[in-house]
Amino acid sequence: MRAMLLGPPGAGKGTQAERLATAYAVPHISTGDIFRANVQSATALGAEAKGYMDRGELVPDDVVNRMVFDRLAQPDAADGYVLDGYPRTPVQASELDAFLAERGEALDAVLRFDVPEGELVARLLGRAQEQGRTDDTEDVIRKRLLVYEEQTKPLEDYYAARGLLHDVEAVGEIDVITQRALDLLTELGHTPVAQPR
Ligand code: AMP
Repeated sequence: MRAMLLGPPGAGKGTQAERLATAYAVPHISTGDIFRANVQSATALGAEAKGYMDRGELVPDDVVNRMVFDRLAQPDAADGYVLDGYPRTPVQASELDAFLAERGEALDAVLRFDVPEGELVARLLGRAQEQGRTDDTEDVIRKRLLVYEEQTKPLEDYYAARGLLHDVEAVGEIDVITQRALDLLTELGHTPVAQPR
């Protein structure tokens, strides 16, 4: 089951991606998490990404793509994954398609997490307090939402044109949202193999 979660920062993609990955026994691949781990352990990749992250800007496509393709080539990703926070630009999306096509693979579904804009800022500010992320200040939050609108939202059309885009209403209880996503994927022919957590 190769799924991709699409939605603005604060839509709850990370939480839901983790649960869906458990339900389908596939890895949760979050580019944001990989970058944060690299910043934490002070790798060259982390040093390269940090400035962009702190400003709420996107890390350049070639850096992200190289990192993701390495990850997707690992054995645990052979039978599927839940992508979270990637792709985020049309260039990333088309290069991912090319990478997958070369391996005879393709994404099965793109789940768009729908949350009203007003709720996003409140959620992100709440998360800033809980997790202490350096990119969760109000200015950077607004920048990240703008970057999403400008650079990532066009992917909705890209995936809709390929018949892959499905909406998940991402407001309400976490369990209810997970169930909506599971129902949708089940309807598409992907039966979960485990409880979501
Ligand atoms: P996230 O946790 O997904 O919100 O990502 C945090 C930050 O990591 C983003 O604001 C970007 O600076 C960087 N990042 C994560 N994923 C990507 C991506 N697919 N393309 C470019 N930058 C990314």
